[in-house]
Amino acid sequence: MVRTKLQRCIDCGEYGLGENCKSCNGKMVAVAPLKYSPEDPQGARRRQRVDAGSDEWVDSLPTPRKVIKGEEE
Ligand SMILES: [Zn+2]
Repeated sequence: MVRTKLQRCIDCGEYGLGENCKSCNGKMVAVAPLKYSPEDPQGARRRQRVDAGSDEWVDSLPTPRKVIKGEEE
């Protein structure tokens, strides 16, 4: 059984199966989601690594509200 991963162009968002976009010849990336476990067995270690909860960690978080506002204006 051959499993073909759906690809998506990172430039224009076109879906396809090749390595390059048929529309703009941009790079295609696999759409398949990353492996995810709701139990997150490595969560505690990961949070400790990034020092979650500290002021530095809060400052390092992305701020989607600002980005969205900037794109709309
Ligand atoms: Zn494209």
